[in-house]
Amino acid sequence: MTRVAVIGAGPSGLAQLQAFATAARAGIEVPEVVCFEKQGDWGGLWNYTWRTGLDEHGDPVHGSMYRYLWSNGPKECLEFADYPFDTHFGKPIPSFPPRAVLYDYITGRARASGVRDQIRFNTAVRWVSWDGSRFSVSVDDRTGSRTEEFDYVIVATGHFSTPNVPEYPGFDTFPGRIMHSHDFRDASEFAGRDLLVMGSSYSAEDIALQSAKYGAKSVTISYRSAPMGFGWPSGISEVPGLERMDGRTAVFTDGTSREVDAIVLCTGYQHSFPFIADDLRLRTANLLCTPNLYNGVLWIDNPRMMYLGMQDQYYTFSMFDLQAWYARDVILGRLPVPPREDMAAHIDGWTARLQTLANPEEEIDYQADYLRDLMKDTDYPDFDLDLTRRHFKVWEHHKEESITGYRDRAFTSPCTGSQAPLHHTPWWTEPDDTLATFLRTE
Ligand code: FAD
Ligand code: NAP
Repeated sequence: MTRVAVIGAGPSGLAQLQAFATAARAGIEVPEVVCFEKQGDWGGLWNYTWRTGLDEHGDPVHGSMYRYLWSNGPKECLEFADYPFDTHFGKPIPSFPPRAVLYDYITGRARASGVRDQIRFNTAVRWVSWDGSRFSVSVDDRTGSRTEEFDYVIVATGHFSTPNVPEYPGFDTFPGRIMHSHDFRDASEFAGRDLLVMGSSYSAEDIALQSAKYGAKSVTISYRSAPMGFGWPSGISEVPGLERMDGRTAVFTDGTSREVDAIVLCTGYQHSFPFIADDLRLRTANLLCTPNLYNGVLWIDNPRMMYLGMQDQYYTFSMFDLQAWYARDVILGRLPVPPREDMAAHIDGWTARLQTLANPEEEIDYQADYLRDLMKDTDYPDFDLDLTRRHFKVWEHHKEESITGYRDRAFTSPCTGSQAPLHHTPWWTEPDDTLATFLRTE
């Protein structure tokens, strides 16, 4: 029997299990699918851990999420078309849920589909190689190691877990704490402190806001390329790149300086696959179009090797679902694998367009067009993709209008058409991120 290995049981890996479960329910013969997950539970990054550094097995901690993390995009833009929010929660819920609510939603679909027994928990994949006819997958289930043979391997291990950690002059003698956002867990740690946040993307934006919300005395955000330029609340300001630290004094390239107590490096992540043989290993930065992956999924040098969720992400869960449906249909022989040169030319076309993108609106259209391509090839349930594209653009404007208020807006579902209610409390003044408080109606 054909055997498929899925590595990782986060949103991408679970999407793959869902795709096969859906086909099986429709009476289609599916291969044996085995999912290896190195953590003790499912949900990937959404499975919050207090741990930093190494996990209980001595492996690098996967989790990069922190307490009080709320969705930073409208939930309507990531809704599962086969499992809408209204179905899971039994009623419409507001558009920007906290982590626990999205965790409940992701795992709720997986539970309803009965895919848990396909997952080997606490099992880390240590090595994947191709022997000419099949893949050898070596795993460590914490009681010992073994190697299994598979016909397909689907890598769904995420790419926001291995921190990119730059060094600046004076870091080695800075008397305070320097951490990467991967290790940030609770903003209250910085209450009453002066914080330096490095970076100008989503982590820098959110960690600066969280820290101010939970009591930091001041937050200085240092950008390398360009400022985010939002209308920051009092206590947060943006300055150019860091030149050096002189003790506690941060000196910036415009000659200004600030005294700080701690530094959070929101400097992004590396795609890291130390468990994959060189000839199968994706090497890329965080881009909307990844090199060597046809349709963003098939490794062109060996299309039995597949990757999910490896792109930079406006779209998340719905993109992973479409990729998973696509991967499934290639494996089932319902979709052809073109010759290598055609796949390479296809990637070249998308890469050339990527280089022309001038602003977030064009990036949103680019990724939405990619989803559109996958949709036309698969039987993933229809949803209003153009509505999500419009939602993303409106969301961008809401952020410009108010960086502390954009999460108080409400959107309509691209799957059911239902209108989200407004949350009972503005995000900026809501310290409580529990599921019970979020779902309370007032
Ligand atoms: P992951 O969620 O990273 O899951 C990968 C899984 O693979 C993990 O369970 C891991 O344990 C497992 N794994 C890794 N290596 C191995 C191995 N060798 N063997 C076995 N198992 C392995 N997206 C949104 O849509 N909205 C948000 O608000 C949002 N907030 C975010 C906040 C932060 C701080 C970060 C870092 C990301 C956020 N994201 C958000 C994006 C996030 O990437 C996706 O939502 C999603 O978690 C990606 O799913 P994934 O399954 O591809 O990867
Ligand atoms: P990212 O989007 O890849 O951004 C990395 C940032 O690091 C960029 O601003 C980059 O600057 C900067 N950088 C890299 N090297 C640097 C250096 N040497 N010096 C200074 N700056 C440097 O990574 P991210 O912001 O961590 O976001 C990762 C994912 O997490 C995203 O999908 C995001 O949506 C998600 N996230 C969500 C939330 C939430 O609120 N739900 C919160 C945090 C993160 P340049 O622009 O100059 O390259």
